[in-house]
Amino acid sequence: MSEDIFITEERIEGADDGPLAGRTVAVKDNISTEGVRTTCGSRMLEDYVPPYDATVVSRLKEAGATIVGKANMDEFGMGTTTETSYFGATDNPAAPGHVPGGSSGGSAAAVAAGEADLALGSDTGGSVRCPAAFCGVVGIKPTYGLVSRYGLVAYGNSLEQIGPFGETVEDAAELLDVIAGSDERDATTREAPRASDGRTSDARETREALLEADETYADAATGDVDGLSIGIPTELLEGADEGVVETFWDAIADLEDRGAEYHEVSLPSVEHAVEAYYVIAMSEASSNLARFDGVRYGQSGGYDGNWNETFAKAREEGFGDEVKRRILLGTYALSAGYHDKYYKKAQDARAWVKQDFDDALAEADVLASPTMPVPPFELGESLEDPLQLYLADANTVPVNLADLPAISVPAGETDGLPVGLQLIGPAFGERRLIRAASALA
Ligand code: GLN
Repeated sequence: MSEDIFITEERIEGADDGPLAGRTVAVKDNISTEGVRTTCGSRMLEDYVPPYDATVVSRLKEAGATIVGKANMDEFGMGTTTETSYFGATDNPAAPGHVPGGSSGGSAAAVAAGEADLALGSDTGGSVRCPAAFCGVVGIKPTYGLVSRYGLVAYGNSLEQIGPFGETVEDAAELLDVIAGSDERDATTREAPRASDGRTSDARETREALLEADETYADAATGDVDGLSIGIPTELLEGADEGVVETFWDAIADLEDRGAEYHEVSLPSVEHAVEAYYVIAMSEASSNLARFDGVRYGQSGGYDGNWNETFAKAREEGFGDEVKRRILLGTYALSAGYHDKYYKKAQDARAWVKQDFDDALAEADVLASPTMPVPPFELGESLEDPLQLYLADANTVPVNLADLPAISVPAGETDGLPVGLQLIGPAFGERRLIRAASALA
């Protein structure tokens, strides 16, 4: 079983003592581990061994965790099924014969299969939440800037965060406690503000904000949703699979029974989110992946007198089809004369998405949607049509465009396949999400 979950199975022991002593963790293979190869699921980095640890890996070690292996993933994080990995697909332990989701499919599968207690993934446009939903586990995409990206191999750096997986919300929150916090090696990190919400509309909120300031993330997993107001963006239900929508409403009813209330809200901009996301992510990827030329990084193209040919050969042989497609499209979107037409437009859409979320979160404590509009695909089913696959990211990518935190928590099943519920909160509102989601798992 485990051979398709890990690209490299290797134990890395942490400190003797610490909050994660005795716990095992799977680490996505785009997170650098000193002395242990880090492939990003790519032939390009098949033999790459980083000389240093990512900040999150140093923090895992200090916390006493044992890393059990480097988990399979879509090549450079580009995908929704883990099938673009050079090392082959991963089966879904919660739904055999189906994909585990992606791009952090190996990480979610490791937790679902009991191969690790916890796992780390990265989420550029849903890559923690999607596999969490498909494998029936919990995954958190932190607020942009809460977790250091130092040592994470960049795909779309303005969008992505490393995030934790666990079998329960409390488990995932414990891992978040260990990895969160500013890092002098990543200038985009910051400490979560003490009163993390900034919403003091009534006495209850004020009390909550004060309580939240000193709480660990794990402490917030109380399951208390009494008085919680949930906004449900109608756009994120449109076009979703019927069974998924039914399971979603059952979970909302469950939260209602425990004292939460819901109302519908609208996010008109999200109809442009997938397009904007892919223009921005591919543009950033085309720049971030320029370093893989066989000289600076990656397997050599073999010099025979012409450097252009050497670089081209290294990239031709080292990258898979999906990565090449994105580098080409990203390069095109950024090329002279087209910049305003694509990249600038996408940035305008991003600003609009942010504004929409701000407005919706002014009227609700959290927003809720199905994490994925569809249940897990059968293995091999979705490979042929990249555009269809991009649309499956409709509910997750808006959150990355808006830099906000979100959590995916198991909501139930449809036809025996796991369905995830996504909760989205205000910037640095992780505790609120953890409190609400822990009512379900
Ligand atoms: N499926 C999305 C993509 O392919 C998200 C991937 C991710 O979050 N790394 O870009």
